[in-house]
Amino acid sequence: MERVNPATETVLDPIDEHTDAATEAAIERSVAAYETWRDRSLSQRRTLLAAAGAELRENTTEYAEIATREMGKPITDAIAEIEKCAWVCDHYAEQADAYLADEVIRSESHAKTFVSHEPIGPVLAIMPWNYPFWQVFRFAAPALTAGNTGLLKHASNVPGCAKAIERVFERAGYPRGVFQSLIVGSDAISGIIEDDRIRGVTLTGSERAGRAVGAAAGQELLPSVLELGGSDPFIVLDDADVETAARVGTRARTLNSGQSCIAAKRFIVHEAVYDAFVDAFITQMESLSIGDPTDEATDIGPQARKDLMDDVHEQIQRTVEAGGTLETGGEPLDREGYFYPPTVVTDVPHDSPMGREEVFGPAAAVFSVPDEETAVEVANDSAYGLGGSIWTADLDRGEELARRVESGCVFVNELTKSDPRLPFGGVKQSGYGRELSEQGIKSFVNEKTVWVQ
Ligand code: NDP
Repeated sequence: MERVNPATETVLDPIDEHTDAATEAAIERSVAAYETWRDRSLSQRRTLLAAAGAELRENTTEYAEIATREMGKPITDAIAEIEKCAWVCDHYAEQADAYLADEVIRSESHAKTFVSHEPIGPVLAIMPWNYPFWQVFRFAAPALTAGNTGLLKHASNVPGCAKAIERVFERAGYPRGVFQSLIVGSDAISGIIEDDRIRGVTLTGSERAGRAVGAAAGQELLPSVLELGGSDPFIVLDDADVETAARVGTRARTLNSGQSCIAAKRFIVHEAVYDAFVDAFITQMESLSIGDPTDEATDIGPQARKDLMDDVHEQIQRTVEAGGTLETGGEPLDREGYFYPPTVVTDVPHDSPMGREEVFGPAAAVFSVPDEETAVEVANDSAYGLGGSIWTADLDRGEELARRVESGCVFVNELTKSDPRLPFGGVKQSGYGRELSEQGIKSFVNEKTVWVQ
């Protein structure tokens, strides 16, 4: 697999793709490992997960640098990502007992009735490049601890991350075969899903990949979780602290160089504070430093691949042609690497690309609305429903509006973020199923009803 450092356009050492025979052997190892792994005590599995967390903490920089090299993430973001992976390991190491405890249900009869939570077998995880460690650990920490084995098909531009994650589990002392990376392209996926040794599938990625994987999983009657794209609203009401909203909104849009599914993408601003917000937001966006992702002072690194940067640029251009006003940014930087500047477009027509599509780069669409009713209407006028953020001084008002936004999560006076303790996932074309928290560890278990008369 060819890899290119997106900051320097340097070709990195290629990593060999698995042959069909190697893939077959990995699936067989996964099945064999499952036979003994599922019978290990939960306490043993929790101890190993804690060791994986410790490994990530001990070698944070080593792992972070691999992500920065392969997909261009600023090093400070990469370090934060590895630390968050350690956190999700700690979380499930501490909470798995409680999450997976038998659930006693009192029935009418005198029988003992309860639900036990048992593993289902090898689970295939198809993951994206944008958070190349976090997306994988978010799946693997709960799924392996529940007693399943994992097979990772990582994005083709981050095979080094895929191998490094395998190394984390090896170094932590996991038995061979419990977690493996398949170095294969997406054309191999349908064949793997059709293999009846695979018992579940999870995907984080684009809507296009979600439709293909969801259809294949449906055909095989496999449980699946799909975490797809988003075009999250960031609603600023007339009583909001505008300066704070502009500062946090800038972070929410440009985190991970703008390549986040839960980034704020559509800024829906009450007309009473519109001018003040837009001025402050543009100032904040223009203040970010863009450049070498290995430099700790860098806020925005390159886009992960040239084709993705070109897609973002085209979406912005088409939006401006449709009537949008380009306030700042809007042209790739004239230098080596795939650098795109923070971009703000106002007067965005609702039916333009920035109104309708997911923009996976540091470009914000701003809309003016006359009242909060219209704000909710605009927020919900999207095919996506992943996250959302509402800014207001009135917490009751924020909470009431949060209930009306069609999405998997809403944050009031905070940017949308994932947290191991809280369920994460979307509605509408952002996918289905939940990761993290108790819901996440139950995504790939057999919730078995037991009746003892
Ligand atoms: P993709 O959805 O194409 O890639 C994500 C993963 O899915 C990769 O492992 C990819 O493998 C795999 N994949 C792609 N197509 C298929 C398929 N038909 N069947 C099975 N697996 C498949 O994302 P891209 O890298 O192309 O990014 C494009 C867009 O995806 C972005 O602009 C953004 O909208 C969205 N995206 C959303 C993410 C999120 O967090 N929700 C994360 C990343 C992207 P391979 O790399 O080998 O093609």
